[in-house]
Amino acid sequence: MIPAPFDYVRAESVDEAISALGSHEDAKLLAGGHSLLPAMRLRVAHPGTLVDIGRLRDLSYVRDDDDTIAIGALTRHHDVANAEALHAGCPIVAYAAGQIGDPQVRHMGTIGGSVAHGDPAGDMPSVLLALDATFVAQGPNGMREIPASGFFTSLFETALAHDEVLTEIRVPKSADGWSYMKFNRRSQDWALVGVAAVRSNGGAKVALTNMGLTPMRAAGVEEALSGGADPAAAAGRADEGTSPPSDAFGSAEYRRSLVKVLVKRALQEAMA
Ligand code: FAD
Repeated sequence: MIPAPFDYVRAESVDEAISALGSHEDAKLLAGGHSLLPAMRLRVAHPGTLVDIGRLRDLSYVRDDDDTIAIGALTRHHDVANAEALHAGCPIVAYAAGQIGDPQVRHMGTIGGSVAHGDPAGDMPSVLLALDATFVAQGPNGMREIPASGFFTSLFETALAHDEVLTEIRVPKSADGWSYMKFNRRSQDWALVGVAAVRSNGGAKVALTNMGLTPMRAAGVEEALSGGADPAAAAGRADEGTSPPSDAFGSAEYRRSLVKVLVKRALQEAMA
């Protein structure tokens, strides 16, 4: 379908983008356009103005910052997948970026767009949730940091205000013991279910893709591990607190069963 009519503004800086968002009530940022434009074509999104930040090159970087790695929000999935700093310091992020869509999607889509879109089926949100990443947002009143645990608020909704731009994502270095299990029928498809696991203090932090309205931590699994359960026993609690969708690709019941298998495999890989 053809999108509803909209105005277009190209921002030359983050400040310009914030001011354009503030002066148009129904404006939306456009980054790689690989989630927003399909939604506009389906007419499930109809912003009156698009504020294009896709050419803000100074928001495209991956930097080693001592204990953390800082990733600019406009960094394309392809560049995340190939960043040396991530391969050395936080390989799960590079690996998961390489699992997103196909090469065309990875050359256009951005890590910031994946996060800000708040799609529970997206690969990167659950990986960043398992890592306890920090999101940096800039708005008219300055900069603030939002922990991943408080960022994803509901289906396609996040803690970002209408006039805030996500500028940076910070991930703690975490190189030993990780796994991202993405289950899909064809290699370039979205995850039917995904599981991110990162080894931590003898246990693991585990987050789930496409098991509810938001990406979520597998609290039951983490509790079982910290109580001394082995991966197979802990994985039995993988669907606790989830509300997976039923759709043409699989029923909720199938996803509940699948997530237990994937959590077990992810834990075995991360803790091996
Ligand atoms: P856009 O589409 O430009 O924006 C998405 C939303 O985020 C909009 O609401 C926009 O206003 C907001 N936004 C963007 N940047 C910012 C920012 N810096 N600050 C605040 N708000 C912002 N994703 C997966 O995870 N796994 C897949 O397997 C997968 N497969 C795909 C297959 C296809 C065919 C397509 C078209 C997309 C696929 N995607 C997949 C989605 C892809 O990863 C998108 O690129 C990503 O979800 C959104 O990034 P974007 O830069 O394109 O954002």
